[in-house]
Amino acid sequence: MSHIVELICVQCGRRFREGEADTCPTCGPDEGILDVRFNLKSAANTLTRAALATRDRSHWRYRELLPLAEGFTPTPAAVGFTPVIEAPRLAQLLGIRRLRLKDDGRNPSGSFKDRPSSVGVARAIQQGAKAIACASTGNAASSCACAAASAGLPCYIFVAKFVPEGKLAQLLAYGATVFRVQGTYAQAYDLCNQACEKFGWYNRNAAINPYLVEGKKTGGLELAEQLADAPPEWVSASVGDGCSIAGMYKGIEEMRAVGVTSFSVKMLGVQAAGCDPVMKAFETGKLDRSFAGNTYADSINVAVPRNWRKAVNAVGASNGAFVAASDEQIMKAVVETGRSTGVFAEPAAATAIAGIAVARQKGILNSQSDVVAMITGNGLKDVAGAMKAVGKPHDVDPSMDAVAWALKV
Ligand SMILES: *Cc1c(COP(=O)(O)O)cnc(C)c1O
Ligand SMILES: [Zn+2]
Repeated sequence: MSHIVELICVQCGRRFREGEADTCPTCGPDEGILDVRFNLKSAANTLTRAALATRDRSHWRYRELLPLAEGFTPTPAAVGFTPVIEAPRLAQLLGIRRLRLKDDGRNPSGSFKDRPSSVGVARAIQQGAKAIACASTGNAASSCACAAASAGLPCYIFVAKFVPEGKLAQLLAYGATVFRVQGTYAQAYDLCNQACEKFGWYNRNAAINPYLVEGKKTGGLELAEQLADAPPEWVSASVGDGCSIAGMYKGIEEMRAVGVTSFSVKMLGVQAAGCDPVMKAFETGKLDRSFAGNTYADSINVAVPRNWRKAVNAVGASNGAFVAASDEQIMKAVVETGRSTGVFAEPAAATAIAGIAVARQKGILNSQSDVVAMITGNGLKDVAGAMKAVGKPHDVDPSMDAVAWALKV
């Protein structure tokens, strides 16, 4: 038995038992996204601050609030429990009182997505699946291949033709079988779903799997526990599909509901200005499905987000705000974060920092604001993206004159 009570459709409110449906049949697979509800009263009996003090320093420490059966032990892997880093110089640059970074780039495959993927792999094994599959070119795929490799579960990844080499290397290094589909991403996605049906593979595609948000939630559970004695006022996070920020907020709220913490935060959702359909949906109440846009922050370059409603609800419920940062502002944030904190963030992660600058300009934040930014991915994930932002080395002859000339001394 897990502590799951039911799953609720975020659009129509229809309720389902665990295992009954993955999306709401009334609202369809696009809008009928389900939210997993736990019995927080019974979870609170064992999930206490005292109990947590004795547990593993990984995201499995929150197992009462994970979608796993009580007797099931997931493969131990060092996911989560990433550090919260004080960033006084970056706070000063941004004009706020206090900034801390939760550096999720230190997860095993280098991103926040290790949280949902490890939960996906655990559920696959719990259900007796023989393999897991995922259609993605980004962090979802590499984290899935990583978690599968650490558990010894075969993994199949469907990528579109134009997959960046670094990401392909990571998939192959983890031993995934990679299908490079000679077509569009949508075709790769459909093919993956069909193959899961035919071969009985567990489907990691976040759009149709409500349990993955529960993995993302561990980012919020952890942040809440780590900051229990010095809570921030705001949490800033970048938004693509929308389920990461929704999961973080859910985690922070559930920690309060079980009594481990007693604070709430306002969520600052940050999109790239070139691709901001979730921010627009926050303003208008509905999603423009014909939206076309683009950003260089590839992990949040999602023109038709699936979990926009969860993101909009979370930011609204937190009394938070949405802002959008331009690609130039995101590049600047990559550089400033690296130089003033020693944390190398991929563009989509630095977007959370760029958003703080925008929110400060707009008066959403002020000189007294206390913010935690979720750094969702490591800069080495996207070297080409970083190189557009970080400048060039000094090419010098092997002579001291050349060094002095470069230093202008
Ligand atoms: C996936 C991802 C995000 C955004 O998460 P969504 O659930 O798509 O909103 C942000 N940053 C990085 C590095 C990611 O990989
Ligand atoms: Zn519904």
